[in-house]
Amino acid sequence: MDTAERLAAALRHGDRRALARAVTLVESTRPDHRHDAERLIERLLPLTGKATRIGISGPPGAGKSTFIERFGLEGIAQGRRLAVLAVDPGSKRGGGAILGDKTRMTELARTPAAFIRPSSAGEQTGGVARRTREAILVCEAAGFDTVIVETVGAGQAETTVADMVDMFMLILPPAAGDELQGIKRGIIELADLILVNKADGDLADHAQRAAAEYANALRLIRPAHAEWGVAVRAVSALTGTGIGTVWDDVARFRAALEASGAWGRRRAGQARAALWAEIGDALLARFRAAPAIAQRLTQVEDEVAAGSRTPAAAAQALLAAFLGEP
Ligand code: GDP
Repeated sequence: MDTAERLAAALRHGDRRALARAVTLVESTRPDHRHDAERLIERLLPLTGKATRIGISGPPGAGKSTFIERFGLEGIAQGRRLAVLAVDPGSKRGGGAILGDKTRMTELARTPAAFIRPSSAGEQTGGVARRTREAILVCEAAGFDTVIVETVGAGQAETTVADMVDMFMLILPPAAGDELQGIKRGIIELADLILVNKADGDLADHAQRAAAEYANALRLIRPAHAEWGVAVRAVSALTGTGIGTVWDDVARFRAALEASGAWGRRRAGQARAALWAEIGDALLARFRAAPAIAQRLTQVEDEVAAGSRTPAAAAQALLAAFLGEP
């Protein structure tokens, strides 16, 4: 048996070391690892697709990890198995400290029905998207029925994550009024569910007020799904208030989209988009590596930067060289 076969067999039997190794394999960029990773995914594919894929995002300090721990433990108490993948494309330079912190979700991490995987730092967005997509499939094949992809509120990361999950949740601090302006409208538009966290103690009123303001603001935004009205909830990850309702929302969301066929259409659209992203990444990598291009790239870039050639003409010339056209 080769690596992919051995890993696939162990995964199916719930071997956690195999699960961790499989995720490491799909995260690797080494060409021999890529080869094994693709064979592994191919083998696992029939076992995938059943889980609910949930994206969770929000600014640092909003309470994402506290929420995921509480939400996860509650789901596990209801019989679910939960995987959490933390994506942190913003950590290219910083070393991935924001989400990679091992002290987060300590109780959930000790639970056999949960699997938590912080992302390693580095690489371009395309790489992060692919390895997260593949890590989701690995978790599904290992029997997790809920896969959470967590990311920090850093703009591009939200869109990337929203494009690979079924449902996108935004966790916001209990700020009201002017403080709400700081959250980008584009990110609000991605949300299927908005949770205003810390609705406890002195902050309870703030959270309720902020939730009402978000609900108001949402009326001006066209919903992403005709069959789902975006809900805003005030919750407390600390005390657990409202957390059970979020699981109900997840179930209702899935049922509504499955009933209309939107669930399957969205997944199919995501798969098609991923295909084109892979084609784009692979073409670009070959283009950059081609000797006819590599020799000239720096000079052409400098000429374009200096304004002595237009980007369009320079791109055409490089493409012609790449394709061996006169
Ligand atoms: P993250 O950066 O979004 O993952 O935020 P954390 O989960 O690390 O939480 C940031 C801080 O907010 C921590 O000190 C938490 O204890 C606190 N916190 C999180 N959820 C709640 C909540 O529901 N109520 C209150 N009062 N504090 C909370």
